[in-house]
Amino acid sequence: MVPLHTGKRLNRWLITVALFAIVLSRPQPAEAWGNEGHTYINRVAVDKIPATMPLFLRRAAAEIAYLGPEPDRWRNPAEFALKNAQEPDHFIDLERVSWLDPLPLGRYEFYRKLYEKRAATPDHADDYLPEHVGLQPYITMEVYGRLKAAFREYRQLQTAHQSTQAVQQAIIFYAGWLGHYVADGSQPLHTTVQYNGWVGPNPNGYTTGHGIHSQFETAYVAANITAKDFGALVKSPSRLADPFADYVAYLKRSNGLVEQVYSLDKTGGFTGKGSRAAFDFTTHRLAAGSQMLLDLWYTAWLESAVPVPEHAPPPPATK
Ligand SMILES: [Zn+2]
Ligand SMILES: [Zn+2]
Repeated sequence: MVPLHTGKRLNRWLITVALFAIVLSRPQPAEAWGNEGHTYINRVAVDKIPATMPLFLRRAAAEIAYLGPEPDRWRNPAEFALKNAQEPDHFIDLERVSWLDPLPLGRYEFYRKLYEKRAATPDHADDYLPEHVGLQPYITMEVYGRLKAAFREYRQLQTAHQSTQAVQQAIIFYAGWLGHYVADGSQPLHTTVQYNGWVGPNPNGYTTGHGIHSQFETAYVAANITAKDFGALVKSPSRLADPFADYVAYLKRSNGLVEQVYSLDKTGGFTGKGSRAAFDFTTHRLAAGSQMLLDLWYTAWLESAVPVPEHAPPPPATK
């Protein structure tokens, strides 16, 4: 028999070895825009908050910028359940849902459509698992909803002459958290099956290697771009007529630029100091992220003023 303390040590050692094996065998997570890009996108959006929105938000620039990369801090194997549950929030492979137009408003209706498609496509059934397709627009609208609800609370407390201190903290968190997903959506490689190396027919000879994703969004951005390089491209906010539809259209525009990323990569645009064309392309994508984020903040603020019934009636039954 092994003495108890030796057995414990052995167990601990085996657990350590197993954990290392798990960490080493996992593919590197794709962290859209890396730390720098996410921080800049949030930062630039805060700088453009108009004077008609609450001042405390503009004063929270440091906190909101810090929160840009926050969901990427939830992707560590040390917190497995968290990593596992929220990984699909960072992307959507739009090619896999080209048959589903418009996308349903709620995530469970989306799941249902995907499972129906899955049952009808036995050859590639798992391509249609929600976690393989990605849930980008759903998490974005859910955090947008949290922000809007918190703004509404803020308005009510203000009207009642009560302290807004606590709800301000919630608003800052939701605004910063929202920025992460909106920024992911401006990175074309977060909207496509071509997310890290070209797959399928490849007449233009694009890279099939698995380095393009992080080379573009992390290494190239960190070495060559700062918030100052794209701040001037972001205009004052507009109210979105239909936040979900407008957001999906934004993802589709991003998806339309996938080939351009590969073509810039092919000509060395993202290597070392890169090219002028790659710089223009990337700064415009970062600016598109800040602009959409600012527009969503602004729209949430305006919509939070619209009175809602205390207990909203249930939606009409759908089949
Ligand atoms: Zn990424
Ligand atoms: Zn992300």
